[in-house]
Amino acid sequence: MMTLNNLLLVVATLTVSGTIMTPTIADTQPPDYKTLKKYREQAAVTELWEPVPRLVDTTINGGPPSDAIVLFDGNHLERWESAEGTPPHWDVIDGHLVVVPGTGNLRTRQAFGDVQLHIEWRTPSTVSGEGQNRGNSGVFLMERYEIQVLDSFGNKTYPNGQAASIYKQHIPLVNASKAPGEWQTYDIVFMAPEFSRDGRIKRSATVTLFHNGVLVQNNVTVHGPTEYIGEPLYREHGEAALELQDHGAPVAYRNIWIREL
Ligand code: MG
Repeated sequence: MMTLNNLLLVVATLTVSGTIMTPTIADTQPPDYKTLKKYREQAAVTELWEPVPRLVDTTINGGPPSDAIVLFDGNHLERWESAEGTPPHWDVIDGHLVVVPGTGNLRTRQAFGDVQLHIEWRTPSTVSGEGQNRGNSGVFLMERYEIQVLDSFGNKTYPNGQAASIYKQHIPLVNASKAPGEWQTYDIVFMAPEFSRDGRIKRSATVTLFHNGVLVQNNVTVHGPTEYIGEPLYREHGEAALELQDHGAPVAYRNIWIREL
């Protein structure tokens, strides 16, 4: 049976100065007060007491964390406008934000930089079209960098254009798509690009993306704004809105919240 003193001896012996020392049968005497005090002082050298992380409440009715900006909770579109700056023209149906094809993109009124974004989306249960024409929409970070939204459940297209791709730049690590008509989640960490004084790119944007809880983009580098044709090329810009794409399909969204990083 190990006594408390023996236990203290073993712990102190194993941890002193980061050196692993094996206790022997001869180590029968508990360390004296001075020795323990010295160990404590050595251990304190690597303890960081500042800064103290701000408390975030994650228990609020299973909803967003307490420091999130709720962009859409099913009730209204006060935080949104059209891509032209006019009042939002998409529908809110049964608490869901639904693309009205042909009306153009929707964007937040607020601009953002580095963010954590949670967004849920659903492609139509009635399947129509093929490839890029099946349940297409998109989440544009800073109005420029698209994470593709698409029905990629048994729907062949170029993989750097399927759901959870960084459109035309990065293929997702796996296809974590659910069937059309089912709700899906994106959890995104986006680090905005930084530009030097002369306007040239200093630090490219990066994206980490979980699709339905599965890691599909692991801190990938964004090469520039999303382009349909040709290579992306960074152009200097400041903070910008989160934008959702009208690509001709009545894709629905819900539970959209964002944390500024
Ligand atoms: Mg799209």
